[in-house]
Amino acid sequence: MMADDNNVMYLGNPTNTIKILEKYGFSFQKKYGQNFLIDSNIIKKIVQESGVKKEDFVLEIGPGIGTMTQILCENAREVVAVEIDKKLIPILTQDTLSFYDNVTIINEDILKLDINKLILEHNEGKPIKVVANLPYYITTPIIMGLFESHVPLESITIMVQKEVADRMQVGPGTKDYGALSLAVQYYANPQIVLTVPASCFMPRPNVDSAVIKLTCHHKPPVSVKNEKFMFDIIRASFNQRRKTMTNSVVNANLGITKEQLLTALEQCGLKSTVRGEALTLQQFAQLSNELSSMLSNL
Ligand code: SAM
Repeated sequence: MMADDNNVMYLGNPTNTIKILEKYGFSFQKKYGQNFLIDSNIIKKIVQESGVKKEDFVLEIGPGIGTMTQILCENAREVVAVEIDKKLIPILTQDTLSFYDNVTIINEDILKLDINKLILEHNEGKPIKVVANLPYYITTPIIMGLFESHVPLESITIMVQKEVADRMQVGPGTKDYGALSLAVQYYANPQIVLTVPASCFMPRPNVDSAVIKLTCHHKPPVSVKNEKFMFDIIRASFNQRRKTMTNSVVNANLGITKEQLLTALEQCGLKSTVRGEALTLQQFAQLSNELSSMLSNL
């Protein structure tokens, strides 16, 4: 599985990255969120934090020129790397990853790929590890897509905008707390493992970055009668986060009347003036279960 070290040109530094970019006349595409890692220590640390082992199957989203893919190939049983930019494919297949026999490159938009089918074919449908330096313009759709399509997952270790990592990790009563925090915490246990300065990328992004590890729950930490309905309530609460829930949720066309909401809030021991930003995941689950029981069609 491991390439002959003598033949590998590791890319985790500015010199070798520039060499490859010039060799192929590659220019960065802003629309694809291309900021390549150029620091081998950071790459090693991400792979180490991901806990990838020799028996693991890894899905990498957006390999770029293959900088982190090289290290993933050396640590995992098998790697599938999904890259949208067709100009990067020959660089990966004919050059930077050509020494590795345990990698498959797929030229596709990750948001359009049937990942469940991929896992069935490559990992007998068993939980996988996802490792990626994500394109920041689609961080949330990628993460929510993985969770909501019930892809079998062990963990997701990803580089994201620092601000987004903070939002995933925080609890109630903070300004960053919102629908993303609750969604991520319903499916996983988030932990920021590394902050990464802009100088570790080429070109430099104009935001700070962080690596967050989402260790997926075997079973959600709360019991919910209707998952979609709970997330509809959560989204409604934060769409108008400065309003009380009796306004934001009732205004959201979910078929919930003010009286029903007031009764449900009371049953949960919550005040009628409460705002969504004060509720824990447990409280949202309880509230949504109370409302589900009241509404005959749920
Ligand atoms: N992994 C490389 C690294 O760390 O140097 C590149 C990371 S760069 C931040 C994001 C990568 O995701 C780019 O290579 C970009 O072309 C790719 N990408 C962007 N949108 C994508 C999509 N929808 N599906 C798959 N790959 C995508």
